[in-house]
Amino acid sequence: MHPEIADKNQQQMLAYREITDDDLFTFQWVKVELPPEEFPGYKGERVVCEACGEGINFRREVRTEEKVLCRACAGESYYEPI
Ligand SMILES: [Zn+2]
Repeated sequence: MHPEIADKNQQQMLAYREITDDDLFTFQWVKVELPPEEFPGYKGERVVCEACGEGINFRREVRTEEKVLCRACAGESYYEPI
């Protein structure tokens, strides 16, 4: 749409601002299957990590062959101590 702009990224960003939503997107009603724990207020089974004793909600536990672990003890922590 904008050959006068040398930078491809700039071209694209300007074009996205100018193209109407109807030309950019296709709208369609869809159905999404979600398990109960994905809904607000879900109170599920609370299990305890066998390594650190932390309570684990929302089925976020990691089950190995012999243990039930929280994500941190299973090595899936999203943070590290500083
Ligand atoms: Zn743990």
